[in-house]
Amino acid sequence: MDITTYPGNIINGEFVPTPTTRHSIDPATGEPLYEVPVARKEDLDAAVGHARTAFKTWGKTTHAERAKLVSAFADAMEANLDSIAKLQTMEQGKPLGLAETEVKMTVQWFRTFATMELSDEVLDDTEERTIYSTRVPLGVVGAIVPWNWPILLGFGKVGPALMTGNTVIMKPSPYTPYCNLKLGELAMSIFPPGVFQVLSGDDNLGPWVTEHPGINMISFTGSIATGKRVAASCAKTLKRYVLELGGNDAAIVCDDVDIEKCLPKIATLAFLNSGQICMLAKRIYVHEKIYDKFRDAMVEFTKNNVKTGGGFEPDVMVGPVQNKMQFELVKELYAQIEKCGWKAALEGKVRETSKGYFIEPAIIDNPPEDSRIVVEEPFGPIVPLMKWSSDEEVIDRANALETGLGASVWSKDLVRAEKMARQINAGSVWVNSHFDVAPNVPFGGHKESGVGVEWGIEGFKQFTNSRSVWVWKKVFN
Ligand code: NAD
Repeated sequence: MDITTYPGNIINGEFVPTPTTRHSIDPATGEPLYEVPVARKEDLDAAVGHARTAFKTWGKTTHAERAKLVSAFADAMEANLDSIAKLQTMEQGKPLGLAETEVKMTVQWFRTFATMELSDEVLDDTEERTIYSTRVPLGVVGAIVPWNWPILLGFGKVGPALMTGNTVIMKPSPYTPYCNLKLGELAMSIFPPGVFQVLSGDDNLGPWVTEHPGINMISFTGSIATGKRVAASCAKTLKRYVLELGGNDAAIVCDDVDIEKCLPKIATLAFLNSGQICMLAKRIYVHEKIYDKFRDAMVEFTKNNVKTGGGFEPDVMVGPVQNKMQFELVKELYAQIEKCGWKAALEGKVRETSKGYFIEPAIIDNPPEDSRIVVEEPFGPIVPLMKWSSDEEVIDRANALETGLGASVWSKDLVRAEKMARQINAGSVWVNSHFDVAPNVPFGGHKESGVGVEWGIEGFKQFTNSRSVWVWKKVFN
């Protein structure tokens, strides 16, 4: 696969160039990447027209027909894994091994989606009548993608939308359009024209997509602030929407854990992808009996095992922050350490002299509960540790924010841990783990972390309308 040219947006099975182009930056080097299209309103109108035409046929295909093409796309992704992963590291900054994991997960997700089906349910069946609950596709779906996991999160929308009979227009983040476009190019030879299209654009394109009267649903992943704008925009045409938004997950570590066993996983899941994942351990609550030992072990582990550097360097866990806007935000948060007098168990460092956006991990030692590092989602390699003493109190603290994406409880006592887990208001709660996801398991947020779910049969349903069909068996006229 040639990962050095972008002939145009992917509209109706063809490359459509645009009069103007733009590029993103390799966050590890600050160097510009290749030029990509900037879609105009008329390009979107054309794509919507083709998607509506294609829907007339695609919406009537059988499960077997859709599954065949969705599986073929998984095979094509797998065959091009190395190039796609390399391109992902170039545009997103994540370490190459993690980029490979993202592509492999997407392949696995597609293979699982191909096996999943929304079947009719019989709600009532008597001599007189049968009542079915059936699900019908919505039409054209706009998939709006963030920059942190653009392949899995982008195609995690495309697979279920296509399997349920919709056509899809994908809008990548302007920070990371490259893999989404290349995968769209791969899809050209697999799906019929108009079934799956990719439009790269600037900041105008997202609002055009959410406002477009020819689009029936928006599947969005991004920040809470943008999610609210998307919901307001969808309201004008009463579009359906699913919103996967920000999180500020609590990880609750009980006093009975083996620190040596659980700490590597907790620390890794605080700093993975430089902290730029919606569901990482972003507030780590450690029982007061083991707090000092845990904090010191986490500092040691991070110093020795969490290497910062470019994504192509060996053994790197913390790549560059993805873009300048996010780099400035995280830098501002690091500046608060001194300003607010937070104690840093591990100081972290902004590499000011590098051309890339590198920031080394910081661990903040028991900051006040109302400090920014606790209440805001940092989306960078900085994490607070806080002390707790009773189960009730720590559950209240975990539930105190307006976010509710994920949370975890770590304990040898599974009964106690599960009891605590079931009291946490979050879309995913793990016992002795964090950040596990699977294509057949619904994933979404409570409170301001989202509306609706993705993945699993519940996620498939979001791409459909419910249609109850009543069949009376006697003719009355
Ligand atoms: P963002 O909200 O800035 O952008 C997301 C996407 O929305 C981009 O494609 C962007 O171009 C587009 N967009 C921006 N303004 C728009 C508008 N007015 N209308 C329509 N589209 C618009 O988010 P981001 O910075 O790319 O991603 C980081 C955020 O996403 C973090 O808060 C993170 O927690 C969250 N996130 C959530 C999940 C989840 O599944 N819950 C997963 C990953 C990231």
